[in-house]
Amino acid sequence: MSEAEKVLVIADSITVGELAETLNLPVTQLVGELFKNGIVATINQRIDFETAEIIVEELGLEVTLKRKEVEKQTLQRLHKPSELAAERPPIVAVMGHVDHGKTTLLDSILSTKTVSGEAGGITQHISAYQTIRGGRPITLLDTPGHEAFAALRQHGAALTDVVIIVVAADDGVMPQTIEAIRFARDANARIVVAINKMDKEGANPDMVKAQLASEHHLNPEEWGGDTIMVPISAKQHEGIDALLDAVLLVADMEELKADIDVPAEGLVIEAHMEKGKGSVVNLLVEQGVLKPGHFLVAGTSYGKVRTLLDFQGKTLKEAGPSTPVTVTGFKELPQFGDIFSIVKNEKIARLMVERAKLEAERHAASTNVTGADLLKMMTQKHDTQEMNVIVKADVQGSLTSVMDSLRLVDTGGEINLRVVGSGVGTITENDVRLAAGSGAVIYGFSVELPPAVKRLAMRDKVQVRLYKVIYELLDDARSSMEQMLAPEVVETELGTLTIKGVFRTLKDQVICGGEVTSGKITANLLARVKRDDEQIAEVEVTSVQRQQQEAKEVFEGEMCGLSLKTHKKVLIEEGDKLEFFTRELVKRTLK
Ligand code: GDP
Repeated sequence: MSEAEKVLVIADSITVGELAETLNLPVTQLVGELFKNGIVATINQRIDFETAEIIVEELGLEVTLKRKEVEKQTLQRLHKPSELAAERPPIVAVMGHVDHGKTTLLDSILSTKTVSGEAGGITQHISAYQTIRGGRPITLLDTPGHEAFAALRQHGAALTDVVIIVVAADDGVMPQTIEAIRFARDANARIVVAINKMDKEGANPDMVKAQLASEHHLNPEEWGGDTIMVPISAKQHEGIDALLDAVLLVADMEELKADIDVPAEGLVIEAHMEKGKGSVVNLLVEQGVLKPGHFLVAGTSYGKVRTLLDFQGKTLKEAGPSTPVTVTGFKELPQFGDIFSIVKNEKIARLMVERAKLEAERHAASTNVTGADLLKMMTQKHDTQEMNVIVKADVQGSLTSVMDSLRLVDTGGEINLRVVGSGVGTITENDVRLAAGSGAVIYGFSVELPPAVKRLAMRDKVQVRLYKVIYELLDDARSSMEQMLAPEVVETELGTLTIKGVFRTLKDQVICGGEVTSGKITANLLARVKRDDEQIAEVEVTSVQRQQQEAKEVFEGEMCGLSLKTHKKVLIEEGDKLEFFTRELVKRTLK
């Protein structure tokens, strides 16, 4: 980063308009850059931090974007416990670098210490479990690949009390270890480190501790710090009890409580359809007590709890705070990451869902790109010419190569090719509407143009061009762009003459005579009239005469008479010089 570079702080996501304002750029330029990167966005649409970074880089701005620190507030539990709140089990996430042993650790914990119960009912993968240590339940959240968990991020993180960070003793701190540490800190969760694979020959727990202490401010207790690090072997079931004790110990440092006498509320962790059962949804209860027969609302879905099961498929009469459960009875699948709550009756549930759906639609409408938006954006002033295209192709691979090739057509920066829309599949009425709104040409590669869409395109004067061969598409796009290039002006010098006498000067005509001093002159040429090397006028030669005869050509050293057409009265004098030339407009071609 150069010293001149500015640092701008933006949130995790930002609207196009806000970003333009932050960067002090016209919105159109930003929208254009997004188009170039295949993102069709309006001023009100949100883009994420990473996209903003890419755009800033592509624009070559001397700016560094910094992510606004996530305010801790957003990561708090939905509800603060009241005076009446009761103790609840800690919620623990197991995280770490791939292959460091998260799954093995979870298996190890669950195989020996799980609440025993009849398996059966629902055996699908569940992403939350419970174990018992010293008579106290501990809720464990599985965080497969971290991505699924990222979707739950805000609320999932807010619910996480403790993060067990698994680090392999023979491998040390790796990128996902660092990610897990960051996650725990963002979530305001306590950290317990499990130094795994202690049974392995190359195990070096001190190296792990040293890395964590020196690079990540996690100081082991035995070195005077406050992070508990437990050596374990997940594979050989060693150190598991000590690890769980450590989890309970750090949990006890926080007062983990939740209200019970309130309507149940919590988080949707997973949802899928199952044959014969309908929707099967995993929930984590945050507060209150969930029972069969309760009416649930989550986002735009609702339902009545038909069956309530624990994570092993055992039927429950009720489920209190920190309990992972599986319910059936949702009419539609909720999204994971949705908050669920219970309401009095079905009527209220339905009303809430209707309102949520309306809200979602309104939100979608406000962020969708409409043809009119595009038109407005496109017709704003630009220095360069624009060619808007919509590309449709049969498969993703050909779509990508068509778009990449189009972008590679070199127009010397004079024509901006904008892909205002793209997609895989048949050309649709929507494509035509988008094209009409943005003045775009539709390029279809190995795709169909249904007759109804063709009629619409003809009515709206939208050009649709279909190809089966990629270079034909490119040739055509290139020639379309060539037609848009402003022609080049080429001037060719032919000869010079010195005025020896002026016979007549009219409003738009001068009759004069002179001597050709270089080259040759003919009729139908243009001439610059120069006096003391300065141009005083530009005139057209209408006729050339030699010895009172119309002459085709007059050469150097010869005298001649000239009839010149002028656009306004020009006073040509003896001694003025005329430079004769032709001027042509030459159509340009692209390289
Ligand atoms: P994950 O990607 O973090 O879930 O890692 P896994 O639990 O799938 O473990 C990755 C590999 O390490 C597997 O081959 C495990 O058998 C092995 N592994 C896990 N824990 C231990 C351990 O304590 N000792 C040894 N020797 N191998 C382990």
